[in-house]
Amino acid sequence: MMNFDYVRPANVAEAIAAASEQGAAYLASGTNLLDLMKGGVSRPSRLVDVTRLPGLDRIEHLSDGSLRIGALVRNADLAHDAAFARSYPAVAEALLSGASAQLRNAATVGGNLLQRTRCAYFYDVASACNKRWPGAGCDARQGENRLHAVLGWSEGCIATHPSDFAVPLVALDAVVEIEGRRGRRELPLAALNRLPGDTPERETALEPGDLIVALRLPAAAKGFAAHARYIKVRERTSYAFAVVSAAAALRIEQGTIREARLALGGVAAKPWRAHAAEQVLAGSTPDVAVYREAARAALADARPSGDNAFKIELAQRILARALTLATSGTPDRIAALPGSPFSSVSGA
Ligand code: SF4
Repeated sequence: MMNFDYVRPANVAEAIAAASEQGAAYLASGTNLLDLMKGGVSRPSRLVDVTRLPGLDRIEHLSDGSLRIGALVRNADLAHDAAFARSYPAVAEALLSGASAQLRNAATVGGNLLQRTRCAYFYDVASACNKRWPGAGCDARQGENRLHAVLGWSEGCIATHPSDFAVPLVALDAVVEIEGRRGRRELPLAALNRLPGDTPERETALEPGDLIVALRLPAAAKGFAAHARYIKVRERTSYAFAVVSAAAALRIEQGTIREARLALGGVAAKPWRAHAAEQVLAGSTPDVAVYREAARAALADARPSGDNAFKIELAQRILARALTLATSGTPDRIAALPGSPFSSVSGA
């Protein structure tokens, strides 16, 4: 039994003050944190419950054409917001492909971005894990590692980032708004998560007390709505994290790709933006040969971290597939589970 304080602040300033103490952790819906606490993986001395902070549960269309999503907006509410799903269909598709309907009803946008890796050795306190215990070693290196990283990993950690939602967001240049001890600042979402290097225990650019209050999608992101898809390969149809996923968003004019936005999930400790592949596509005519060339460019630096060489080939195929589907046009209705009469539909 481990004792911890429970604090329910009335506003953001109180929350930051309460969470700045060593050992404190923010609690939103707790869909990841409570599991970690029950397993003894995470042992915060204080939980700062932010679920009742005012003003963080709104979806706002700003005058500059951008969209501001409060950190406490629920994943399901965002996926089923019709205006959102029309403007950012790949993001809605990614949201619906994550977890289960029950979890999506509870989980928040901010919490989704900060969820921890699903590396099994991280969750098993009897295993050596540099992320949980710096300097302890990494049992995944010689263990069951077919789902681990193929890009950006280090000898210290080969874990992947589990979020689906974050993958198209990174492709579309989303920004996070952070309130902290030194006031408000903004950070490109692509810079929120860190690669492991020698310090896998440091997963994000956040400092003690920092609270993500909102996420913003720039107006330019709407320009990709007609040709945007998120494709996820998982080991079972539902309620599973990505083996590999890809977000592809194209701006096609008069038969030419003017601009491409691409990102991969399940391959690294952060959603992986594929800039080199985007450059291959810019100015080209949509064609599967070009898509394969772009996919090769996206994975050019990939290397297996264990029994996962297959993920490099798989990621290339999924990226080419996502590009092919995006070219055919964003469907009017995107179901959470393809072909299922029981799945929910984005924007519905
Ligand atoms: Fe821990 Fe990373 Fe190794 Fe998994 S891969 S056991 S999270 S150090």
